[in-house]
Amino acid sequence: MRFLATALSCSLMLAACDVPETGDADAPKVAPVLDTADAVDTQTFAKPLEARVVNVDLDLDLDFAAKKVSGTAMLDLIAKPGVEQVILDDDGLEIESVTDGEGKPLEYEVGEVVEGKGAPLTVTMGDAREITIAYTASDAAALQWLSPEQTAGGKHPYLFSQGQATLNRTWIPTQDSPGIRQTWSARITAPEELTVVMSGLSQGDPEATDDGKRAFTFEMDKPVAPYLIAIAAGDIVFKELGPRTGVWSEPAMIDAAAAELADTEKMVEAAEELYGPYRWGRYDMIVLPPSFPYGGMENPVMTFLTPTFIAGDKSLTGLVAHELAHSWSGNLVTNAVWGDGWLNEGVTSYFENRIVEQVYGKQRAEQEAALSFANIENTLAEVGMDAPGTALHTDSDGGELVGSAIAYDKGAYFLRTVEHIVGRQRFDAWLTQWFDNHAFQPATSAMILADMQENLVRDEEEAKALMLREWIFEPGLPSNVYKPDPKAFAAVDAAAKAFADNRQLDEKAWGNWTSAERQRFLAKLPRKLDNAELAGLDEALRLSDSKNNEELFLWLELAMANQYEAVVPRTEQFLTHVGRAKFVRPLFTTLWEQGAWGQTIATRIYAKTRAGYHSVTQGGVDKVMQGAR
Ligand SMILES: [Zn+2]
Repeated sequence: MRFLATALSCSLMLAACDVPETGDADAPKVAPVLDTADAVDTQTFAKPLEARVVNVDLDLDLDFAAKKVSGTAMLDLIAKPGVEQVILDDDGLEIESVTDGEGKPLEYEVGEVVEGKGAPLTVTMGDAREITIAYTASDAAALQWLSPEQTAGGKHPYLFSQGQATLNRTWIPTQDSPGIRQTWSARITAPEELTVVMSGLSQGDPEATDDGKRAFTFEMDKPVAPYLIAIAAGDIVFKELGPRTGVWSEPAMIDAAAAELADTEKMVEAAEELYGPYRWGRYDMIVLPPSFPYGGMENPVMTFLTPTFIAGDKSLTGLVAHELAHSWSGNLVTNAVWGDGWLNEGVTSYFENRIVEQVYGKQRAEQEAALSFANIENTLAEVGMDAPGTALHTDSDGGELVGSAIAYDKGAYFLRTVEHIVGRQRFDAWLTQWFDNHAFQPATSAMILADMQENLVRDEEEAKALMLREWIFEPGLPSNVYKPDPKAFAAVDAAAKAFADNRQLDEKAWGNWTSAERQRFLAKLPRKLDNAELAGLDEALRLSDSKNNEELFLWLELAMANQYEAVVPRTEQFLTHVGRAKFVRPLFTTLWEQGAWGQTIATRIYAKTRAGYHSVTQGGVDKVMQGAR
């Protein structure tokens, strides 16, 4: 099977077939940086065209009692002739010393702090091209330290990081910009009962240290954007899923995690058949405790996942397809600046849907695409077709004006539309060469537009039909958008209408629906319902008992929007257990919008749950609850 499929796709992909299947001997040690105006990252203090970091070597100790990491970061630099200073990003690090390769102290200065960005750490390195920074990171926003009670096992503490977008500067002194790629290695010591994993390949078994700890070593020999350096440590175990795939989690969760992720190897094969070789060696994942703020994070060779995707029936594994696809779009070819975040997220969301189609079939893929289109429509209806934040390319720092609908969903629909117009075969060949020709490099909107014009568009007529520039640089939704099949949810929409018109419910149909269909149904229900109607829904469809967190979330949101008291305890339980920002923030928002009733509840719950959330989730909810704290 595998052989046949690979042979078939090779005929479409030409060059990609010559590349070795795993690993990539051609990965450059030193990746280029871009020098165009649209590639200037306003979120970093670094001046990479003057002097930049090309390799980071960490030697750090994890102190769970004090919740801090300390040790050294040795940086290899390259610089223009005559340049004697290098500027790094530093957000709250306590710097003890900076020395050169011979241990000679170097002068350094920490500049003024800019909110949300940290401060420049300027090192006068003279002609030294290797510097070592000794430092401690306490209270790092990237790191969440969990007490034993916050884990499933309840016996050991836990640590995980979330670096994207600009948080890694709170625990690693380097140039923290997606356009400045670096190779890295690390030696991490941790209490002996804990296991450490990172987003680099493990270099053999841990070694016992003199002070009763264990030291773990890792290496990433391909240049990556530094937001992709990630760490997790806890009482975790590993289960193999396939020849190059496996999953880590706490022992209590490992079987459920492995069962849910059983299709991973198939997904890697599907992704390779679509767009060329997986270049990172292994593809492992770690299922984190429920406070992880995102659905997933595409840390190379070690995707970080929320446990909330585990539904027991693989219905939410589109998330895994998404993180896997980032191994091409995002990790291999990376947005040079966050204002071009759609290059990471939109291309990945499109790619995700293609993997889902390959592994689970056309119907599920079309339904998931239809949910994504509804997200675009709802967002545009809310913020307006002319809102500048609805262009794929934004001059801003990729802020959160429009949530996920633009970078993710509009980005995916752009590629879906292009595919529809030029045909799948030509489109796939184009996207494959885009990944190949920009592998291990940063990219901008202007670059992908030029590449499409050069390598995809056949003639003027086709150029007109594609509306490429409009898609990338104009707000709203271009008229040529290839909409989802209106039949994708025809039966479900009819069922929602039957409920809206005369409160008819077909429990049996609900029982047979896919998760996408159930989500669609819940989203299409009337927004105003009374207590009796909500009680009827809950009883018939057992919504409060749902094991599917996407469905449960939609139900809780609907219930809170109608001030349905009976479901407040279930909402509180959910918010206490789960820290995923996608669920937590809208639930607090919905409560807050209810005036005194909901604000009292939200304030009471948040006082209890805030400390258990990662800083990313805290930041989002703090904004919602402004004035309440
Ligand atoms: Zn993503």
